[in-house]
Amino acid sequence: MSLVEIQRRIQNACGKSGRNESEVHLLAVSKLQSEEKIRRLASEGHRDFGENYVQELGGKIEHLKDLNLRWHLIGHLQRNKVKFITGQCHLIHSVDSLSLAQEIHKKALEKNVIENILLQVNLGGEDSKDGFSESELAGSLPEIAALSQLRIHGLMTMPPLQNEPEQNRMFFARLRALRDQWRSQVDVQRHAFSELSMGTSHDFEIAIEEGATWIRIGTLAFGERPTKG
Ligand SMILES: *Cc1c(COP(=O)(O)O)cnc(C)c1O
Repeated sequence: MSLVEIQRRIQNACGKSGRNESEVHLLAVSKLQSEEKIRRLASEGHRDFGENYVQELGGKIEHLKDLNLRWHLIGHLQRNKVKFITGQCHLIHSVDSLSLAQEIHKKALEKNVIENILLQVNLGGEDSKDGFSESELAGSLPEIAALSQLRIHGLMTMPPLQNEPEQNRMFFARLRALRDQWRSQVDVQRHAFSELSMGTSHDFEIAIEEGATWIRIGTLAFGERPTKG
């Protein structure tokens, strides 16, 4: 589907829920997709791309430097790989533990940079899924918010994959409620705590109706993903 068609669907979802389109940002999820396809979207004026794997992200940043893209990390980040991406991401969506937040802070301090992050919440309670549980995050938030090099822009979630889109509405609504609740507990001068990264090709319209500010679209923008390996 072309970017124009995706934008039209975003507009419709915004219209349906009385939201302003300017609040909803499209992240093109380019994991495992070719650099050529990224160049094509960039030539249509798209700037925000999301990747899952640190090594792949590093290669693409290097090879596509000329395009001045904004890179987002949306996949699980291992602590020992933080050093490879310090200072290179526009936004890290997938901060899923206190120890990871501390490592990102530490490396950012060494390089004297600020890192913009989202905190990933595992609302489905699946063991296989990365993310803080609600109670873990409630407990860790004060410590994370106190790390000088981090700016918490908001929350991210990835509901159970097998769900029907409509089944995910409750997760999206829950993430919004948590943002509203926790925002009152941080210093909003430092931490905007306003963004909600939620919704994929499969369910982004529902996510928009429930308040998404970043929707993460892979397959719909690029076509089927080649398999990893
Ligand atoms: C791959 C991925 C997406 C994109 O999924 P599509 O179904 O291809 O739109 C979104 N979010 C995360 C965290 C992903 O890993």
